[in-house]
Amino acid sequence: LDVAVAEGARAYELDRAHVFHSWSAQAQINPMTVIASQGSYVWDGDGNRLLDFSSQLVNTNIGHQHPTVVKAIQEQAAKLCTIAPQHVNDARSEAARLIAERTPGDLNRVFFTNGGADANEHAIRMARLHTGRYKVLSRYRSYHGGTDTAINLTGDPRRWPNDYGNSGIVHFHGPFLYRSQFHAETEQQETERALAYLDQLIRFEGPDSIAAIVLESVPGTAGIMVPPPGYMAGVREICDRYGIVFIADEVMAGFGRTGEWFAIDHFDVVPDLLTFAKGVNSGYVPLGGVAISDRIAATFADRAYPGGLTYSGHPLATAAAVATINAMQEEGIVENAARIGAEVLGPGLQALADKHPSVGQVRGLGVFWAIELVADRATKEPLAPYGGSSPAMNAVIAACKAGGLLPFANFNRIHAVPPCNVSDDEVREGLEILDRALDVADEHVRS
Ligand code: PLP
Repeated sequence: LDVAVAEGARAYELDRAHVFHSWSAQAQINPMTVIASQGSYVWDGDGNRLLDFSSQLVNTNIGHQHPTVVKAIQEQAAKLCTIAPQHVNDARSEAARLIAERTPGDLNRVFFTNGGADANEHAIRMARLHTGRYKVLSRYRSYHGGTDTAINLTGDPRRWPNDYGNSGIVHFHGPFLYRSQFHAETEQQETERALAYLDQLIRFEGPDSIAAIVLESVPGTAGIMVPPPGYMAGVREICDRYGIVFIADEVMAGFGRTGEWFAIDHFDVVPDLLTFAKGVNSGYVPLGGVAISDRIAATFADRAYPGGLTYSGHPLATAAAVATINAMQEEGIVENAARIGAEVLGPGLQALADKHPSVGQVRGLGVFWAIELVADRATKEPLAPYGGSSPAMNAVIAACKAGGLLPFANFNRIHAVPPCNVSDDEVREGLEILDRALDVADEHVRS
């Protein structure tokens, strides 16, 4: 451990001298060093063990250093490290089969990318070429990636500094009963009114100008807002009515996170395109992709698809996907995520909500949960403003870390998003740490 801590100190020095970090004012950050990881845990630069309730950026669905995935990457490296995308490769072929077998409906073909953002970029390109239309609709309170089109698709404040007003993307409000835009008091009202509004927005934008609607099947970073019953089916109907391509972004919600292989499976809806990344191989090697319906694939049967990537279907990444999907299947990891959500994590978080006045709502499913923190339960005033942080939230996050838990935090929310193969005892450990951290949040509640 001492050696690892010393190496970590050197890595920190070099990082601060030479590494340029995402989304950050470079001089104002103090990034945490990670010197080791295993299963549901990581070790920080001082050698402290932290329970990883973030799954990093909600990607280590199979936990850290899963031995069969590590072994598959090692074996693939020894066999064939890289190959151009135009050649057939066994790891890529098998990964495509395993993914196509699990995606809903006729999503039978896979275009591989390097991550989630470029998966969305390509899905939009396919939809625009398939329909001959340009505009794309996506919801506020969403995240779709950091590249040009994907960041404009995004409905959170990260878009603002990247928005030059010419992306062809129109944002709309999706359903979120806790902070309803539609003055709804029930899920049924929220569904009906959100769908009526979307239909009207399309008619006012011009249905013939709209190529696609992109929705996270369960919006993730924006707050884990499970769509109410009927909403996703209603969007499917609207898309069919106007000839609009329905793109489901499953980058964060897919591959077991919600207790199903794909979050859209909860709603019995088949999108035309489905984008994925993260959990497909737990991020052990960068990989994303677009699963494509037969109808859209047919558009490019005799017409070249104008897009590609040097590393599309990279052997190390796709071998990691094959090993990950097989391990998830054999070890019942998706079923574990569903059970943990229903029996341990969901009820445990609800008990914390009942106890702590700072908790406005807990919501989620599987191993995909948000704790919405408020200064006042009656007015729902958030503990940090939309798009910002606050001393109160910083104190809660610090209390989590001091207690031995690495949380995923966004604005006024803490997300409890452990690996899909987390154990009951690990979840109980996490709930105890959260319980103490929420005492800190309670101090900021106005009484
Ligand atoms: N879509 C969703 C729903 C995401 O959560 C993310 C990343 O957090 C992305 C797309 C972008 O993926 P990547 O960071 O791999 O480009």
